[in-house]
Amino acid sequence: MEAYKQFINGKLVEASTGDWIEVENPYTGQIIGKAPRGDASDADVALVAAKAAQASWAKLAPATRATYLSQFAQIIRDNRVELAQLLMHEQAKIAGLAQVEIDVTAVYFDYYAGWARKYEGEIINSDDPQENIFLFQKPIGVAVGICPWNFPFFVMARKVAPALLTGCTSVIKPSSTTPLSTLRFAELISGLDLPAGVLNFVTGGGATLGNALVTHPNSDLVSLTGSVEAGVEIIRNSAEKIMKTSLELGGKAPVIVFPDADIDLAVKGVTDSRLIFSGQVCNCAERAYIHKDIYDEFVTKLKASFEAADYDDPAKDGVAYSSQVDRAQLEKITGMVERAKAAGATVLTGGAPADKGTGYFFQPTILEGAAHDSEIVQKEIFGPVLPILSWNDYDDVIARANDVEYGLTSSVFTTNINTTMQAIKDLNFGETYVNREHFEGIQGFHAGWRKSGIGGADGKHGLFEYLQSQVAYIRY
Ligand code: NAD
Repeated sequence: MEAYKQFINGKLVEASTGDWIEVENPYTGQIIGKAPRGDASDADVALVAAKAAQASWAKLAPATRATYLSQFAQIIRDNRVELAQLLMHEQAKIAGLAQVEIDVTAVYFDYYAGWARKYEGEIINSDDPQENIFLFQKPIGVAVGICPWNFPFFVMARKVAPALLTGCTSVIKPSSTTPLSTLRFAELISGLDLPAGVLNFVTGGGATLGNALVTHPNSDLVSLTGSVEAGVEIIRNSAEKIMKTSLELGGKAPVIVFPDADIDLAVKGVTDSRLIFSGQVCNCAERAYIHKDIYDEFVTKLKASFEAADYDDPAKDGVAYSSQVDRAQLEKITGMVERAKAAGATVLTGGAPADKGTGYFFQPTILEGAAHDSEIVQKEIFGPVLPILSWNDYDDVIARANDVEYGLTSSVFTTNINTTMQAIKDLNFGETYVNREHFEGIQGFHAGWRKSGIGGADGKHGLFEYLQSQVAYIRY
């Protein structure tokens, strides 16, 4: 079994504890590698190194810093197949999607390298004609990035690229469930002449190592992608420091299908948005509202589409999805479906785990008739399970769509431009997709409302998360 290492202050190192995290391939059940189980002392060494490196890193021209992001992108491209295989094995992501994640991550580093000569401050008119007011944009300092297990490689880049480009230094903690692809990336870039301490990768538990990164005096910003529970802990534990937190948390995305929609397009969009990566995606379609005039046709077609989805070995061609990431996720989904059934929901298809002899599989599932205030309609499922609801009145469906504690993504299917514009105005979510699957672009801004988060990632606005302003008043 391969033993991976952390990357701290320019060196590949084991954990100070000497302890390891074993990583399971959820499809085969085999242990495929181990990562160091770091704790507070590893956090301390990494944050001391990141602090020491930050001032001189910030003094480099952005275009110089960008050359390292371009090198990261090239290294990813040079090792794209190996990295995708590792990603597939550590989380049962189907091969095609794993390859897309690796390839998009290379594009992401190139995209942010391109911002080096573009981001800028402002010149503001003064009340005094003999004065200039300059607003400078300066790096916040040491940025901690805490990553989830569902898109471990891409989310790592989401935290590294804007931090390093703006002159912050970075300490990244992957999820203990999926640390291997990130640690392999660390190993691959360890041969570059990146100044020691600028980028560090540490591995360990959330409550131990993660909390130590958050509460350490050297961390100036924490960007978490993860659960609402972890977000609450991070806000609570960093309160004394008054530190900037950027939180990308869970979702409960509604899809609203209007009577004038292209039904086949909507069926495909909903299927793709629910079953991708076994439903373990923050922006996935988590509940669908279908107008009563098209309800029967839509449900018949959606049922056929779910039943046609092949779920199997992640390496097999043509599969829609594979195993859930671990037994705990499978048990969580099973419990939610059982409680929905007990509360009166009807199973139209699926409804139970699937025994494939290996892996933690759940059947593609459609539930009908769940109450608005029931758990399955209100809480994130994170599995291939879709509660489907009918609607008749526009104001009522918008009110129901908005009435959840999450506010990440939403979508509508309609062929009417007025309906499109009105729905975008009325939906209270960070993203709204029209006539397409739920998936954001790297030049957009992925940011949730309500308990889905604070701040966000990607594009120009994601870059500015890592900058703070300094206003200079210059009288002459
Ligand atoms: P999680 O909250 O269990 O873990 C996320 C990370 O936080 C892990 O690295 C974990 O070790 C760390 N962590 C946990 N408690 C911590 C603490 N007290 N202090 C510091 N670090 C701590 O989430 P997960 O199960 O890995 O990921 C799934 C969740 O992430 C889902 O809710 C999903 O919706 C969300 N997610 C959101 C986005 C987004 O962009 N909004 C993207 C992907 C995933």
